[in-house]
Amino acid sequence: MKQMYCWRCKCTVPMLDEEEFAHLDRVYQDCAKAVIQYRKDHRVSLTQTPVADLFQAAHRCYEQLTGTTGVATEELLKHRIALYGRPCPQCAKPLRTPKARQCFECDAKVSAAIKPTDATEEQNKGRIAVWLDPEDVRFLAAHCSCSPNAKRGEEQRCGRIRFRASAALHKSGWENADVQQ
Ligand SMILES: [Zn+2]
Ligand SMILES: [Zn+2]
Repeated sequence: MKQMYCWRCKCTVPMLDEEEFAHLDRVYQDCAKAVIQYRKDHRVSLTQTPVADLFQAAHRCYEQLTGTTGVATEELLKHRIALYGRPCPQCAKPLRTPKARQCFECDAKVSAAIKPTDATEEQNKGRIAVWLDPEDVRFLAAHCSCSPNAKRGEEQRCGRIRFRASAALHKSGWENADVQQ
């Protein structure tokens, strides 16, 4: 459980992690089934069904998990950390989805999440690490050293080195490198 801003409720609310969510979801789905069963048994419409009563178990479960009451039934399953993105770098409110590229609260543009390099994975591919100054990486990223009659393999290697150099710039925050592929 984590206190996070919910853009629907317009305030900070407790958000559930995946384990807590799975628990609430089971209780919630049972309540939803109880609503369907009630309508069948009594042959009534949804407005004639005591939905709030039938969802009490879900609200109790949410209260046990978070210590909070008074959340609308339709919000219960939406207070789930995994549905939101990381905090906006400008206003710190969570982005509305994990894939959001712009903050709805302050309009800040957000760059794609950067996946850090996994050293073990790289070693397993037989690669070795090289440490260079950013300016040298920038040079590598932009510099094609292929002669006009370079072999295809050489051109591919040169392209690969420029691509990886530009990825390294991006990952280390040097994003404005202009790379010609
Ligand atoms: Zn909410
Ligand atoms: Zn923002």
